[in-house]
Amino acid sequence: MTCPRCRSEETHQLATSPVPGVWEVWQCPTCLFCWRSTEPPSITNPDLYSERFRLSMSDIVEAGDFPPVPEVQAD
Ligand SMILES: [Zn+2]
Repeated sequence: MTCPRCRSEETHQLATSPVPGVWEVWQCPTCLFCWRSTEPPSITNPDLYSERFRLSMSDIVEAGDFPPVPEVQAD
């Protein structure tokens, strides 16, 4: 399964429906995106996912901490 947001191929199945075959939840450890298999193609299909919300590898690497983590003060 390809991540719709960052196109990583290293996704994994996080959960499955109690009734087998109804839905699955997938997670991307690269960008932390999670999606349910029953969401619309604009969420689940990498080719239809909005460019506005897409993340590249450089976006992920260069992203800052939010909220910012202050430096540890040595006393
Ligand atoms: Zn991703």
